[in-house]
Amino acid sequence: MLSITSKLPKVGTTIFTVMSALAKEHQAINLSQGFPDFPISNDLIGDTYEAMRAGHNQYAPMPGLPELRQAIAQKVNHLYKSSINPDTEVTITPGATYGIYTALTCFLNPGDEVIVLEPAYDSYIPNIELNGGIAVCVPLKFPDYSVDWDAVKHAITPKTRSIIINSPHNPTGYVWTSEDMKMLDELTRNTDIIIISDEVYEHITFDAMPHESILKYPSLFARSFVIYSFGKVFHTTGWKMGYCIAPEPFMQEFRKVHQFLSFSTNTPMQVGLSRYLQNEQAYLSLPAFFEEKRNLFLDLIKDTPFTLHAPTKGSYFQLLGYDKISALPDKEFAIWLTREIGVACIPVSAFNHDGKDDHLVRFCFAKQDETLIAAAERLKKLTMK
Ligand code: PMP
Ligand code: GLN
Repeated sequence: MLSITSKLPKVGTTIFTVMSALAKEHQAINLSQGFPDFPISNDLIGDTYEAMRAGHNQYAPMPGLPELRQAIAQKVNHLYKSSINPDTEVTITPGATYGIYTALTCFLNPGDEVIVLEPAYDSYIPNIELNGGIAVCVPLKFPDYSVDWDAVKHAITPKTRSIIINSPHNPTGYVWTSEDMKMLDELTRNTDIIIISDEVYEHITFDAMPHESILKYPSLFARSFVIYSFGKVFHTTGWKMGYCIAPEPFMQEFRKVHQFLSFSTNTPMQVGLSRYLQNEQAYLSLPAFFEEKRNLFLDLIKDTPFTLHAPTKGSYFQLLGYDKISALPDKEFAIWLTREIGVACIPVSAFNHDGKDDHLVRFCFAKQDETLIAAAERLKKLTMK
């Protein structure tokens, strides 16, 4: 029997697949995988349907439809006071995960080191390793998960080729400040470190915190691939549509790789999204919309024995401690909670390369109020151990 040597020997099925399947099996309320359970905009559906009816069903241009790239450039240039050129600095991608992989593929060579701040979104390290790179993990600071800049500084070596940053942060909800951006600028200036900035939750910040996009900082942008997802902005995670913004020389390489990975991205959805992007309220309303959900969730869990270490400042996730409920490792606790209590969550150790377990689980509150209330009713049955 012919066998293959795995390029990802340590990797199994992702925690999102495992927990969503378990939730289904046990008819649990699924607050694990990050996706909204409410409907998307009818206008966006209409715009996309119209595009299909009008015959926009063949390959789109390799970098993406010009009208969508223009709408994106207009949006970010207005929001972040940048001067992004839609022709040379924007490429439409089949989602953000793809954008991150493609960006890494542009420049990583075997043995190159990439700094990853942990806990980290689970695709980063496999994406680095598939490209022959070595992930150098730096822990974020408990309990608010701010960046330990001394530790980042010490992790930089002559082999450091890149750093992946993510704000608002999945899974911790930490939102970078202008001070963080200043530190990043200081540490990367005069180096050949390339930044990959995962900004998929750009519109989900709370308590009036601004989103510090790389696009606001020309000296940082000059060394960055900036990654976005329409999945998180228009509640369309199943569409797998996103885009990458990078300076022209980087974008030329990105497009070289992209043309042989996917070639192009879904055409009618690009038409629909370019029309729907004209409605700026659709994304400007997101902070208030999700802040209400966060506040509802925080209010509801007050009546449970979970420990709140720090309210989330951004993203649609909240971490909670369960030390008062159970001594189980976090993965076992998440499975137990799904089976016995009927609420699914994500164990945070899945976001640590070494499985470090701080007895924390992540809940997604991008759900209808009824879903959150029903989940809380179940969680209230938990008792102190
Ligand atoms: N980065 C982060 C931090 C995420 O939470 C997600 C999940 N949406 C992604 C990237 C991937 O986005 P997409 O579904 O567009 O690939
Ligand atoms: N980004 C989502 C999360 O963190 C899910 C992504 C996925 O299922 N791969 O839950």
